[in-house]
Formats: sequence, structure tokens, C-alpha cells
Amino acid sequence: MTTTTVDVPATSRAAVIARFGEPLEIRDLPIPTDLEQGALLVKIEAASVCGSDVHLWNGTLGGSQAMELPVIPGHEMVGSIVRFGEKAEQDSFGEQLRLGDRILFTHASCGKCLQCTLANEPTLCTKRKYYMFTNCEKPPYLVGGFAEYCYVFPESGRVKVPDNVSTPWASAASCALRTVVHSFDRVGRIEPWQTVVIQGSGPLGLFATALAKQSGAGRVVVVGAPDERLKIAQSFGADHILSVEQVSDAADRPAAVRELLAGRGADVVFEFSGARTAFTEGLAMVKDGGRYMVTGQIDRPGQEVPLSPGYITRHQIDVLGTWSGHIAEYWKALQFMSLTKGRYDFDLLVPNRYGLDQVTDALTKMRAQQDIKPIVIPHEH
Ligand SMILES: [Zn+2]
Ligand SMILES: [Zn+2]
Repeated sequence: MTTTTVDVPATSRAAVIARFGEPLEIRDLPIPTDLEQGALLVKIEAASVCGSDVHLWNGTLGGSQAMELPVIPGHEMVGSIVRFGEKAEQDSFGEQLRLGDRILFTHASCGKCLQCTLANEPTLCTKRKYYMFTNCEKPPYLVGGFAEYCYVFPESGRVKVPDNVSTPWASAASCALRTVVHSFDRVGRIEPWQTVVIQGSGPLGLFATALAKQSGAGRVVVVGAPDERLKIAQSFGADHILSVEQVSDAADRPAAVRELLAGRGADVVFEFSGARTAFTEGLAMVKDGGRYMVTGQIDRPGQEVPLSPGYITRHQIDVLGTWSGHIAEYWKALQFMSLTKGRYDFDLLVPNRYGLDQVTDALTKMRAQQDIKPIVIPHEH
């Protein structure tokens, strides 16, 4: 399976960050012809913008991740297979892969370190290679989503996209929804008599609203803004919404949430907002003995918040974190979309399309919250 019947050009256009905060450059990069064993080459059918792409472009992600510019941003994408390396005929679940099949694929964990093997935590791999953080002037060059083609690392998990899941939905599943699924996996069971608070009404918070309802949570409160996103939360099943624009003082929000939940806090609070002060606020929304999952935060200087650790002790709160996702969570995210098709209109999260030369515009709109999740179609426009 090493030959190709698909015409692949010698070079690929790619949107490149050469300097933080400046408009992206469109460059022609070589398309690798000799693929490593286990690698694939895909044509990018769609790549969506994640909040992390905006932080990367701003230069504010550097604290948590070493990188050498230039890089191709984008790590949330769907590719269709155009070239096979040896021994790459199956996805991570044993499904046969063919030319033209749409797949999602993970960052590359080594599969050999203690996190990968003993702990079964590949997102914590000590030798992990990341799309969008990897220099694009060295082979295999095409290591980010905002390009016409992309290299699938031999170590990357990969999963075929079900036929009834649209390409833009699958793209949004490959970081946003799979991260939410990972958070739900780690937080544990949510029972029908339990209450859930979701901080944030961006793509992660809205996916989490749907997942919380589908998982059987008795009551779901979404805390966020603007109103149009809170309306989407309601259409996804939120029982209550709390506008941070209306309750503009963060100190008032825990009491407002508790009032909605019969005076108690929530059994589970998920933080998907990324707001600096969200942690202190969210912790005070958890009921005694409850769980707090922190997923939306960035680890960098300036993000510190005042906290009395004794609050966690006294109220016996489980505080948890989630980073990225395993290939199993990509599979679950796609199955969720496939099996609930018709119940949740995820088109509401991905209303707009951009060409490759409009990536700067897409990032700008995402940053200004003028677009909820821009979809870049590299082969159009
Ligand atoms: Zn992301
Ligand atoms: Zn590893």
C-alpha cells in the first residue's frame, strides 16, 4: 500500500507564523514523498481555529510549550488520506483505511516512556511531538492544520470519521470535543440526581452542555456570555443560564449559582472558560464533597489567583485537571456526534468558512469573539 493513485503536487501552501502577532505568511513547503513506516499524508479537508491557536499567535503560549518559529498553527483538523507509509493500512481501532478516507489524528506520543506505558497517559508523554509547535522548515514540514496537506506522524493515533459526521463537525471534534470528552472521562460518573455547572459558553462549554445532558445530569447550569451563545446552551439542554454580563461582579456568581441549585453548590463544576478569575469563582460553586474539573486554563505567568488551600480541605473538594486527549477520546467524540445526530445542531458552532489566505482574519475574529469557531478550508477561495 505504498503507491498512490491520487495526484499529489510537490509543494503545499501553508499559513505560517513567522513572528508572533503579525499577519500569517503563505509559504510553499515541500510535500514529503518518502513516508516513514506508519506515517500518512493527508489532504486537509477542514481545519478549525482553537483558542490555543490564538494564544500561540499572540505569543502567550510559550510558557507552557517550547517552540521554534516559523510554525504552522492549527491542530484541529480533518484530513483525507492521499499517501500511505508502510504498515499504515489500519486506524488505531483496526478499521481498514483507504485513499480518500477522512481521518482525525492525534499529536505524537512516543509509546515508550513511563507515562505512555505504565500510566497509560499518552497526553503526558515526556517526548510528545505537537502539531502547531513544530518548526516547519525541517522535514516533514507539514506539521500544522492550516495548510493544504499534513503529515501524520507514525506515532499519531488515527481514527476514521463516520460517514454521517460532517467534515466541519469532525474538525471541531478533534480538539474541542475530544478535550471535553477527556474531561468527562476523568471526572467520573455523573448521576441523574446530580447537578453540573459549566463555566464558559465557548465551543468547549457548549459541547460540554450537550454531553452533560446526554450523560444524564439532572440539572445543568451554564455560566457565560454573550446571550447568543447562552441561547445555544439552552438549545443543547442547559436548564439554567447565568450571564456573566448581567452578573458582572465575579464575587456574586457563586451565590447566584447556588440560588439556582436549591442553596447547595453543584456536584460537578467544569471550568472551560479560560478566564483568569474563573478558578476562584468555580471552586466556590462546588458543593461540599463535590468535584471541580479545570480544563480551560493556560499555565503561564500572570495567571495566578489568590486562594486559601484550606478551602479545598474544609469542603473536601476533588480538584482535577485535563490536558488534550487520547485517541480513544477522539473515537468517543465522533461516536457521540454520529449517534446523537439530529439532537444537537453543532452547525451553530461552526457557521463561517475561510480560505488559507484568510487565517489571520479567522484568528482575529476568534480572539474578538466575533466568530465562535472559524473553519478554514485550505483548498477553496
Ligand atoms: Zn486546541
Ligand atoms: Zn511517551
